[in-house]
Amino acid sequence: VSRNPGEVEFHQAVHEVAETVIPFINNNPVYEKIKVLERMAEPDRIISFRVTWASDDGEVHVNRGYRVQFNNSIGPYKGGIRFHPSVNQGVLKFLGFEQTFKNSLTGLPMGGGKGGADFDPKGKSQREIMRFCQNFMTELYRHVGQNIDVPAGDIGVGGREIGYMFGQFKRITNSFEGVLTGKGLEYGGSRMRPEATGYGAVYFLEDMLNHKEDAIEGKTVIISGSGNVATHAAEKILHRGGKPVTMSDSGGFIHDPDGFTQEKIDWIKEHKKQRGARIAAYVDEFGGTFHEGARPWSVPCELALPCATQNELNGEEAKTLLKNGCVAVSEGANMPCDMNAITAFSEAKILYAPGKASNAGGVGMSGLEMSQNSARLHREEEDLRAALKKIMGDIHKACVEQGTGPDGHVDYVKGANIAGFKKVADAMLAFGVI
Ligand code: NDP
Repeated sequence: VSRNPGEVEFHQAVHEVAETVIPFINNNPVYEKIKVLERMAEPDRIISFRVTWASDDGEVHVNRGYRVQFNNSIGPYKGGIRFHPSVNQGVLKFLGFEQTFKNSLTGLPMGGGKGGADFDPKGKSQREIMRFCQNFMTELYRHVGQNIDVPAGDIGVGGREIGYMFGQFKRITNSFEGVLTGKGLEYGGSRMRPEATGYGAVYFLEDMLNHKEDAIEGKTVIISGSGNVATHAAEKILHRGGKPVTMSDSGGFIHDPDGFTQEKIDWIKEHKKQRGARIAAYVDEFGGTFHEGARPWSVPCELALPCATQNELNGEEAKTLLKNGCVAVSEGANMPCDMNAITAFSEAKILYAPGKASNAGGVGMSGLEMSQNSARLHREEEDLRAALKKIMGDIHKACVEQGTGPDGHVDYVKGANIAGFKKVADAMLAFGVI
């Protein structure tokens, strides 16, 4: 803590991993000898830079950009770029640290990294966003490359922003390469990438339920967020015969007791594409209720998918979920449940999947986008959908292997942490003391 003052989210992420990995290291002293966990908790490097840009009215603005290159032991650094006013070094370190474990779990050759800026895309014009993306890449380009570091999207960065950044990278370097993932299909993107995180979180939920001879069908599901992850999670819940009834944004949540249909989800997708649009408008279009400034966890449900942001579900809210009969939680967002919520789920022994396992589908598909770019080919949608299902199934299997207790209960936090740690640690062991 004294080494990383004020980085609360980073402390939280390392603490959660250390709790389950230290006992594993104690049983495998080879990792202790060369201080693998200490090395994994220290990023390889952090790049921080100024981004200057001018708004449409001619005013000059200064933002801070970052890239945290955390660990490249098993492949090039890989992880998203986030544009949100809450971005700071501690937030990006927590995300980069988690990403290292997540990428390892996918079974694909990707290291961990994360980046972003404290830029708020809300209310900005298309041209302002374009200029910001270009200026951001004007510095970032010297630190990334298809074999070095391959960023993707995250909160505030979707296909449009990736396009602007890719265009600028190509212009500056005169190189057409797979330096970013989440690209448009016309210039090297992969099918299934936009759907992958949300669909993957539902596949993982399904695997957990199936492992207990249960299923999604017929269950009421609450979802937070209304961006890329949340809308695709809702869509897959629908495909599986579940009933998604809530979504949210930074203004509050909507509750539609009749459940979302595909038409309603498509409307939300289109509506929220405009940065700054509020989910509250749903109620005028389709009915239901809007709850200003609130989060959806008090709505009775059997399944919950937090898909907005970190620490959006606390201990009290977890207890409410449990009281209302929730049997499984699958994290679509990164670290949405705080430590008290995780403790409550773990004590109640319900099915709880940490994001580093359940939301790994997005980066898994990004890994396949990288291999398609290297081979200069496109894989078909059917084929990629099956690949995503298999990646999530393999992660589930690894968690069950490492996390099943004597009573048969699967501790998915322990399983994901140990399985993710082992591969990276073994690579670091092979490299010696460097
Ligand atoms: P989007 O930008 O598409 O959507 C984010 C959603 O979360 C919006 O509804 C936004 O509301 C809401 N939100 C953001 N910050 C807050 C906040 N502080 N309080 C309340 N609501 C908030 O992002 P994604 O869907 O891509 O990402 C969501 C989560 O999933 C993040 O934790 C991200 O790291 C994680 N993730 C994403 C992956 C991907 O492939 N996209 C991969 C793996 C994880 P508003 O519109 O009002 O800002």
